[in-house]
Amino acid sequence: MNSIVDSHCHLDFKAFKDDLNEVIKRAMRNGVKYLLTISIDLEKFNDVLKVAKDYPNNVWCTTGIHPNNVQKNLTEKDFEKIISVLKKNITHNKREVIGIGETGLDYFRTSENKKNQQKSFDLHLQVSGTTNCPVIIHSRAADQDTKLFLKNKVKLYNTKGLMHCFSSSKELAKTALDNDFFISIAGMVTFKNSHDLKKIVQYIPNDKILVETDSPYLSPEPQRGKRNEPAYIINTIKVISKIKKIPEEEMIDLTTKNFFNLFSNIPK
Ligand SMILES: [Zn+2]
Ligand SMILES: [Zn+2]
Repeated sequence: MNSIVDSHCHLDFKAFKDDLNEVIKRAMRNGVKYLLTISIDLEKFNDVLKVAKDYPNNVWCTTGIHPNNVQKNLTEKDFEKIISVLKKNITHNKREVIGIGETGLDYFRTSENKKNQQKSFDLHLQVSGTTNCPVIIHSRAADQDTKLFLKNKVKLYNTKGLMHCFSSSKELAKTALDNDFFISIAGMVTFKNSHDLKKIVQYIPNDKILVETDSPYLSPEPQRGKRNEPAYIINTIKVISKIKKIPEEEMIDLTTKNFFNLFSNIPK
């Protein structure tokens, strides 16, 4: 069976506390051989790292601060500390930590920390460039500002990476692609009313598309409404392969190849 990569999940979350081992076994049985579990703040980095250490052949992790978790009151010193912790987490855990994030901008859930979200985003991009670790970008209700960051910072810092759980405009997709970024599609594409996202999938070149679950959130149809888990990713792949008129097996190979092209920093 071909190997699928779930390029974005949150395996350290409470939702998996009782049955993570079962969840990972189910993923394997369904062909999902590789999982990237994503950090959302530095305090809980050790939980994320532990999952990667517990499943050394199948799970990698990232380090970073989700935009909604960026504190409103941070001093210059705090930001310097963040940079050094990010760098330390990467250099001390080269096998496990392969990416930076998730970072980015989210003005939907929190906007009172806007300025600091931007600062944090900026320094994640910088660390990504200097450590050669791809960045995982989250963007919600912040398309214009995210676009500016992609346009002005990505080349400046020599950053590569991906836009995760893409649900933004075609314009933002274009800017991401213009800057050589990959675009990751989650379960939303399986929803009946996801016309715009389906068009985006058509638009993304075959060598730039990735897939993810964002587990435990956003289950694809027909599991919509239930807790999401990596095994369900196949339903997202089925829909994407229909949209792109590419056989399912080929779609799996393609997205897996894309993942390893982006994460060329993974130790052999
Ligand atoms: Zn996210
Ligand atoms: Zn996430």
